[in-house]
Amino acid sequence: MSSAQVSSTAGAARSAVKAPLLIPGRGEPVKDAILVHSAGKIDYAGPLSGLPKSLNVAPERTTEVPVLLPGLWDCHVHFIGHLEQSMDGMAGTQPFFAGVRTAHDVAATLSAGFTSVRETAGWGVELSQEIEAGRLVGPNIYSVCAAISCTGGHVDHHTMKEHHFHELGCHGIPLVVADGVPECIKVVRQQLRRGAKAIKICTSGGVSSDRDDPRHQQFSDEEIKAMVDEAARSQRALTCHAHGLPGIIAAVRNGATSVEHGTYLNDEAIALMKEKGTILVPTRGIMEDGLTAAEVWSPRAFEKLKPVAEQHAKAYRAAVAAGVKIASGSDYGISQRNTPLSHGHNGREIELAVQIGGMTPLQAIEAATAVAPEVLGPQAPKAGQLKEGYDADFIALTSNPLDDISIIANPDNVTHVWLAGKLKKSPGRPILLSSYSE
Ligand SMILES: [Zn+2]
Repeated sequence: MSSAQVSSTAGAARSAVKAPLLIPGRGEPVKDAILVHSAGKIDYAGPLSGLPKSLNVAPERTTEVPVLLPGLWDCHVHFIGHLEQSMDGMAGTQPFFAGVRTAHDVAATLSAGFTSVRETAGWGVELSQEIEAGRLVGPNIYSVCAAISCTGGHVDHHTMKEHHFHELGCHGIPLVVADGVPECIKVVRQQLRRGAKAIKICTSGGVSSDRDDPRHQQFSDEEIKAMVDEAARSQRALTCHAHGLPGIIAAVRNGATSVEHGTYLNDEAIALMKEKGTILVPTRGIMEDGLTAAEVWSPRAFEKLKPVAEQHAKAYRAAVAAGVKIASGSDYGISQRNTPLSHGHNGREIELAVQIGGMTPLQAIEAATAVAPEVLGPQAPKAGQLKEGYDADFIALTSNPLDDISIIANPDNVTHVWLAGKLKKSPGRPILLSSYSE
C-alpha cells in the first residue's frame, strides 16, 4: 500500500448508527448498540458502553434507527427478464428487454433490504458491472452466469429445435447444455471467462422444464465430478439444482458446495450432507408462492409443481430439524410486476423459513446473513455479519423481527439500506427506478 493510500484510509470520515437493538447475523442480539464504519468497512459493532473512545463519532454523523441488522442475502435469484416462469419466457426474452426489465429488478431487490445476491443463472455479471460503475442502483451480485444442464436436462428448451437453442446461447442467454466430460469442462471455463463467481449445474430434472422429471438424475457422476474439479481449479464453489434423491446424493458425493431445492432428500442424504458440510438452499418461496400463481407457469409446469411443493415442505423441515446448514434463497425472479414471484419481496423466504422450515426467527436471519456467503466457498466476501472488518452492508427495520418475522417480508418495513457504508435508502428517500410499489 502506498503512503497516499494509507493516509486516505486513515483520514476516512467515520459514521455511526445507533440502535436499541442490533442483530449481528450470528450470535445473540445486542441491546443499546452502536455500529461505526468507515471506508466501506465496519470498525465496531456492539454495545454502546463498549465503544473505544478512539472510535467516537460526532452526533451529526450518527443515525438512529429502531433495529439494525446485516444486509440480507438471497442465494437463489435470476435476473433474466422473463415475464413468466417457463422455458419460453426464459429462453425467449431478447437481451435488450432483459436489460431494461432487470434494471428495475435489481433496484427492487436492494430496496427490500437485500444488499447481496448469489444469482443462479441470469445477466448478473453484466448488471453488477453497471452497478459498480454507478450507472444502476442494485445489490452486490455474485453470479454463476449460465446454468448448465445436459441435453434434455433442466435448462434445455425441450420443445425448441436444438440448433436454435444453441444459437440463443451464442447471444448470451444464461442457459447452456453440455454432454460428456470434455464439453462439461469447456462450458465451466466459458462461464469463468464471462466472469462467473460460482458455477451452477443441474443434477436432476426440474419443474419449469417441459419434458424431464424432477426425480431423475441428470449428468453422470463422472461429468459432475469433472465440473466440480474444474470449478475448484479456479477456486469457485459449485452448486447443484437437485430435486430428486439420486441427483442430490450425486451432487453431495461429488463435492458440490450446496444443493438448491433438495425436494426429495431423505435421511441418507441428510447424513451425507452433514458429513460433507453441504449447504441446502431451500427456495421455499417459489414453491409456496408459486402454488398461488398458476398464471405465471406453463400448465405442464404448474402440474409438476404441486407434488414437488408438497414433498419439499417435509424435506425442508427434516433438514432443519437434523441440523443441515441452510443458506436462504428464494428462486424468485420474474420481471412481471407485482406477482408473488416478482423481484423485491425476497424477505418472504425468511418468513417461510420460520413458517415452513421450522427455524427460529434468529436462525432464519442467520441463514440469510452470516451463513449465506458460504455458498461462494473461496470467493465468499467478508460480509453477512455486523462485526469489525466486515463489509459495511447493513439495514434498519421498523420493528423487531424476532417478535414477528413477517415484518421482514415487506420492503416498506426496511427503513434504511447501507451498501459499502453508503446510505442508499432512508425515510423520504426511496430507491426509485420506476414505480414498483404495490
Ligand atoms: Zn432457480
